[in-house]
Amino acid sequence: MSIKHLFEEKKPILSFEIFPPKPESDVSVVYKAIDGLVDLNPDFISVTYGALGTTQGNTVEMASYIKNHHHKEALAHLTCIQNTTEEMNTTLNRLEAADIQNVLALRGDNPTGHTHSSGDFRFAKDLVTQIKTRDQFSVGAACYPEGHLESPSPELDILYIKEKVDCGVDFLISQLFLDNEMFYDYYNKLRRNNINVPIVAGILPVLNKKQIARITELSGCSLPPKFRRILEKYESDELALKQAGTAYAIEQIIDLFSWGIDGIHLYTMNRIDTTREIINSIHYIKNHLRRMK
Ligand code: FAD
Repeated sequence: MSIKHLFEEKKPILSFEIFPPKPESDVSVVYKAIDGLVDLNPDFISVTYGALGTTQGNTVEMASYIKNHHHKEALAHLTCIQNTTEEMNTTLNRLEAADIQNVLALRGDNPTGHTHSSGDFRFAKDLVTQIKTRDQFSVGAACYPEGHLESPSPELDILYIKEKVDCGVDFLISQLFLDNEMFYDYYNKLRRNNINVPIVAGILPVLNKKQIARITELSGCSLPPKFRRILEKYESDELALKQAGTAYAIEQIIDLFSWGIDGIHLYTMNRIDTTREIINSIHYIKNHLRRMK
């Protein structure tokens, strides 16, 4: 089933994100992670696409395993900034052959650090347009509650999201964030700009200090006072920080559910234990809301 139709049937939707193995690492570890995550019964699982090309082939392979071995809906991420139209068509043909019906269309970042494209595509919307020439795919795209890092202004960023959605995007998945109130403000702005597709909240359970430095650098995600207090108190104790970070993510999700969010996308980092803990804590509430839909 296409993810577009999943949103028509259920609310809230719950999805997981995994990353494929790097060439030098053991593929079986990721297969095992997928097996464990499928057991937690998400509505779909997305597989990221390596910006440097190293894990790109694995994305199709992992998505195919999710879809064809586990019969679970898969969403394959695809970036376009370095690619030609022909290369993208080859990947889309592979996805079609594997019966993958859902693609997250992304621009990606140039590994050289340049923001201009070295391929045939400049922005994610160009990839959306290409994918939409085929009937096979339901297409998702990214959005940024705190604005994209390269964006000249929040207003222009939203205008560009609108342009992207108008090219044929069926749903949006947000960059991770730690401040729900800021997200609600952003969500309402998208709606006021006539962006009417389902918007999914991206949630990352923050589990260690290294991860925090990386996410603030890469995503520009701000740390609200409540989160900073947790960090200051527990950063020297790995287990305490892990427990507090998991509890923070659970609280964020329950609040998003109560607010009426369309879906939650959990950045699992391929971790079964933390993801299971979160799912066990929200399972009943999610099903209660679905019965009320
Ligand atoms: P775009 O929508 O093209 O936007 C990029 C920038 O261009 C923005 O600043 C935007 O405001 C601006 N812009 C858009 N249109 C115009 C226009 N017409 N004129 C001028 N400026 C414009 N990266 C990976 O490499 N692999 C992944 O698997 C991956 N998965 C992701 C999943 C999610 C949910 C998210 C939120 C991000 C993911 N990324 C991934 C990161 C993403 O590739 C980067 O954030 C990238 O810098 C932007 O991609 P985009 O698709 O949002 O680009």
